[in-house]
Formats: sequence, C-alpha cells, structure tokens
Amino acid sequence: MIHPDLLELLGCPLHDERPPFELRGNYLVCTASGHGFPIVDGIPHLLPEDVIEPNRLEELIDERDKSV
Ligand SMILES: [Zn+2]
Repeated sequence: MIHPDLLELLGCPLHDERPPFELRGNYLVCTASGHGFPIVDGIPHLLPEDVIEPNRLEELIDERDKSV
C-alpha cells in the first residue's frame, strides 16, 4: 500500500506542474490527464514508457473489478 502523502509528493512526471496522482487499484492515475502508471510489487513505475493511456486504463481497472 502506498501512503497518501507519497502520492502527493510524486506528482505526474509528464507535466511540468506535477499534478497529484489518484490511487485506483494497482494504478496511479494522473488527476490532470487521466492516464496511469502501474504499481508493481508496491513500487510505482513512472517512466514515460510505462504510461497507460486512459482508455486502456479503464479496461484494466474494470477487468480487475470483475475478477474480485
Ligand atoms: Zn499526467
């Protein structure tokens, strides 16, 4: 589990203003643009090549909800 304070510190690296992330399942979702980054083994993967587009992110989160 990622501490909420850490989410605020991180901020989305794809924007100069570093908007905060929202935690949704195992993904950090950018509150500015809606894209996400995966959290793998408790570690956020925030490299540009790890970015998940908003459409794909919704699918991933939906799939996860269905499997619970
Ligand atoms: Zn962003």
